[in-house]
Amino acid sequence: MQSDEPVPLPCADKLAFDTPEAARATATVSEHRYGGKLRVYKCRYCHLYHLSTNHDD
Ligand SMILES: [Zn+2]
Repeated sequence: MQSDEPVPLPCADKLAFDTPEAARATATVSEHRYGGKLRVYKCRYCHLYHLSTNHDD
């Protein structure tokens, strides 16, 4: 048994933010830099906030 082995999250390689404000600030910078729209969403896996380039997830 490896019960203390952390389960890898599907979002492990994404940027994660503690607050939607922090996520939004980074999204705004990236939108200016790359010219796309980013959406801030709360992750159901890690319960932090990520940025998404699509409208589904
Ligand atoms: Zn996550």
